[in-house]
Amino acid sequence: VVVFTDITKLNQLATQDVLTQVANRFKFDQVLEHSIALSQRYGRPLSIMIIDVDHFKAVNDTYGHLIGDEVLKKLAKILSDGIRKSDVIARWGGEEFVVLLPDSELTSAVKLAETLRAKVAESDFTPAKNMTCSIGVVRWNDGDTPDQLLKRVDEKLYTAKESGRNRVIS
Ligand code: GH3
Ligand code: MG
Ligand code: MG
Repeated sequence: VVVFTDITKLNQLATQDVLTQVANRFKFDQVLEHSIALSQRYGRPLSIMIIDVDHFKAVNDTYGHLIGDEVLKKLAKILSDGIRKSDVIARWGGEEFVVLLPDSELTSAVKLAETLRAKVAESDFTPAKNMTCSIGVVRWNDGDTPDQLLKRVDEKLYTAKESGRNRVIS
């Protein structure tokens, strides 16, 4: 029983982000590779979005790292609650999350991204104020490798930041 419990715990630690409870990057890489293989095989659409908190450094600088952590936890909950069970959310980096949308065309992925963006902008992150996020969205193209897909979505996020933040770019 003890060994079983330890393995379960190890598995959890290996796949889940400790702070936010969503999947970690290691887990996401596996899911992404598998999802691309499925889309390739069955000709199904697949879309992905990267969500990056706007000016998050200012939250840490103003309220401290612990409050920053609480903001990230709350954000992860808002995002997780706003997606389908079949979608996969992961913590991509410090204040960045990634969402994989199996069987989703770009138009529906953009709609969801816009809903999530609005939810974040309307949510109360007290003591932090006026929290917003920028989101890049792309659809997987036939033949895209995980790296190519991630590069494209990252470019969209960059454009969202450059063009003023608190927006979705696809
Ligand atoms: P931008 O709008 O351009 O995205 O600005 P930003 O301040 O969000 O971006 P930047 O990359 O400069 O800063 C991200 C900050 O996120 C810096 C880092 O200290 C903070 N951060 C990363 N991981 C964590 C974490 O786990 N907890 C806390 N509290 N802060 C974190
Ligand atoms: Mg960032
Ligand atoms: Mg940021």
